[in-house]
Amino acid sequence: MKMTASRWLLSAAFVLATQAAWAADKLPNIRILATGGTIAGSGATSTTTVGYTAATVGVQKLIDAVPEMKTVANVSGEQVFQIASENMSNEHWLKLAKRVNELLGQDDVDGVVITHGTDTLEETSYFLNLTVKSKKPVVLVGSMRPSTAISADGPINLYNAVILAGSPDARGRGVLVSLNDQISAAREVSKTNTSTMDTFRSPDLGMLGYMQGNKAYFYRSPSRRHTADAEFDVSKLDRLPQVDIVYGYANVNRVAVDAHLKAGVAGLVHAGVGNGSLANTVKPALVDARKQGVMVVRASRTGSGIVTRNGEANDDELDFVAADNLSPQKARILLMLALTKTRDSREVQRMFREY
Ligand code: ASP
Repeated sequence: MKMTASRWLLSAAFVLATQAAWAADKLPNIRILATGGTIAGSGATSTTTVGYTAATVGVQKLIDAVPEMKTVANVSGEQVFQIASENMSNEHWLKLAKRVNELLGQDDVDGVVITHGTDTLEETSYFLNLTVKSKKPVVLVGSMRPSTAISADGPINLYNAVILAGSPDARGRGVLVSLNDQISAAREVSKTNTSTMDTFRSPDLGMLGYMQGNKAYFYRSPSRRHTADAEFDVSKLDRLPQVDIVYGYANVNRVAVDAHLKAGVAGLVHAGVGNGSLANTVKPALVDARKQGVMVVRASRTGSGIVTRNGEANDDELDFVAADNLSPQKARILLMLALTKTRDSREVQRMFREY
């Protein structure tokens, strides 16, 4: 039987459409949750790399700017917030964690990418690391240059984050952070430079791997408890206990601690000098705080290293908790979550050893 030209065209189109559908079927389904930040920022000119406005570009525009993503994943977007991340709050985190858990509970979602400002990206990622109840990949991504800049880093960072979130190798490694072709663990990573592209670092412990040539390369995994293995559950919470940070420095006084006590804080993290040392002017204030039922955690402002329990202060006697090697801002997050479970300082110390 002879095929007419139009019949041939029809069946060719059918074969192509089936192949395309089959290919799309094999790609991972990745949901991008957009929260704002510089990755969604715009500047007055293409050379504006500081002094731009964060959180102006919507999620669909971010996705449309990287059509290459369609070849590596079935991508869909959702605008969760549109803020600069210095304005991130506990309430934002609760909303985000609940949404991520909802999405990862669906069979048709293989991974989640969250676009985020870089200023507090390390905090949101650690919060999610402790509250997401799934082994599916969750990747936080941002950029140091706004979307309008020459050599903006947002598009390539987003492209890599989508590949990472769809990568089976990323499963079960906790919440990940990916910028600048690197993969980092939520617990370890910090923004270390105000403006350079290589700002995200994990002091002492190093990153987990690289993004290279459209592929994730892992070299290690975080060893502390996280995600599906964590004991925290925020599904029914609409607020978190108030925990604040007081900073240590030469000539420090007790004014800040007293102000927090007056404001009714539930926990305080002391970002001490060195190995979490307490000045003679501040120690009595923290002792008063503890007597009033406020949980006190000793952290360090140094940026790396372990705060030794019963080292620079006798934690057993003072009933304080040592922060291990968590930065003060990450210790604040663990303390908030710990206080949703217990008011016993030994239990809180256990959590600081495990998470
Ligand atoms: N201030 C911005 C933010 O965190 C900085 C950035 O995204 O790089 O939202």
